[in-house]
Amino acid sequence: MTSPLPSVDQILGRPEAAALIERHGRAAVLGAIRGITAAFRAARAAADAEQVLAAAGDRLAREALGSLRRVFNLTGTVLHTNLGRALMAEAAARAAYEASIAFANLEFDLDTGRRGERDAHVRARLCRLTGAEAATVVNNNAAAVLLLLNALAARREVVVSRGELIEIGGAFRMPDIMARAQCRLVEVGTTNRTHAADYAGAIGPRTALVMKVHPSNYAVTGFTKAVPEREMARIAHDAGLPFAIDLGAGTLVGLERWGLPHEPTPAEAIAAGADLVTFSGDKLLGGPQCGIVVGRAALIARLDKNPLKRALRLDKARLAALAATLALYDDPDRLAQRLPTLRMLTRGENEIAAQAARLAPLLARWAGADWQVTVVPARSQIGSGALPVDLLPSAAVALRPAGRRAGAALEALAARLRGLAWPVVGRIADGALLLDCRCLDDEAAFVAQLDA
Ligand SMILES: *Cc1c(COP(=O)(O)O)cnc(C)c1O
Repeated sequence: MTSPLPSVDQILGRPEAAALIERHGRAAVLGAIRGITAAFRAARAAADAEQVLAAAGDRLAREALGSLRRVFNLTGTVLHTNLGRALMAEAAARAAYEASIAFANLEFDLDTGRRGERDAHVRARLCRLTGAEAATVVNNNAAAVLLLLNALAARREVVVSRGELIEIGGAFRMPDIMARAQCRLVEVGTTNRTHAADYAGAIGPRTALVMKVHPSNYAVTGFTKAVPEREMARIAHDAGLPFAIDLGAGTLVGLERWGLPHEPTPAEAIAAGADLVTFSGDKLLGGPQCGIVVGRAALIARLDKNPLKRALRLDKARLAALAATLALYDDPDRLAQRLPTLRMLTRGENEIAAQAARLAPLLARWAGADWQVTVVPARSQIGSGALPVDLLPSAAVALRPAGRRAGAALEALAARLRGLAWPVVGRIADGALLLDCRCLDDEAAFVAQLDA
């Protein structure tokens, strides 16, 4: 038995079809209509032209959204790698946009009319902010470490403490990066304790570099010993070797200025004697994804000459965004207003709790009678490996299921929130779905969506 379906021509003759073509283009609409009628035919179901067009319209609207969507990050982790880490400042996003839609003097010196250097657009500020002689920028910090190791230590040895052989997630493991950079890793010390003599004893004729890796996403506590950076620098320099630090998060200003816990800065690392320091652009710095290396001019020149630099270089949009982000650091007094990452990190517990209290009744109505909704104290994380054990006092809306099968109900509610037009991502803990309000910037949009 075949089901009666209108022909494609009949469907295209309807006025709704013209509206869809205006919006999505003829080819896409035709493809969607064919797909929908095929599905009806396969299901041996009947449909009229109007139904086919409605289904095609839904499909096209869904496809137009794309898979990369903005989400509300209510996880409590400010720099959430899976949710895109730092939000760019308004000025940085605008700079990226402008660099993208017009030609730019990316590698062109406007004074001389000759070829210029793309990193020159950020170099002077990076040097000023870190006290370094020179700087180079690449795709991300993993790339910065790879480039540094390959340029300075290929086919030679790199001395690193056993307590610092980190894995950061997303397949960044220090021993693997070393191998890919063609370096031989020489581990010194033990997991919890490394002494100055361990470094000195490991240095030999094949050593190219002494390296320190900031243990960014974990803490070794208890009976521990690490060698201070200043002393590591002295040991390396006594042997005529460079000393490099992979800092990871690398904030450019002391966070204690805003009452946040201290996180090491590139300037401190340079002042302690590091010859090269690597850090990410989209962690605490609050800019676009990139990796930054600052340090001695002669060493940076070797990185810039390495063919990997060409493969890992930044595009104009991100360079423009980085330059605009760094410019905000000229006015530290207003940084917490302008840099979204810092704005979210410095939000007060009371302000967040008041926001959670405003949202709780709306969420209670949205979730339905089966849910008990309260405001609870929460602990936000900086995330992305910065300050792994420091948790910031915050507030969350907690949704608890009444009755049995709580686990399944929580998963279902989390899925319902993720299914919204502007998906909401929270976290499940202690038998509740927690929506930490620290990163909720656009409260009006959040409320409007619940009401819809
Ligand atoms: C985050 C981090 C990296 C990797 O940086 P990406 O910018 O994610 O590539 C490397 N080293 C340390 C210590 C880090 O914290």
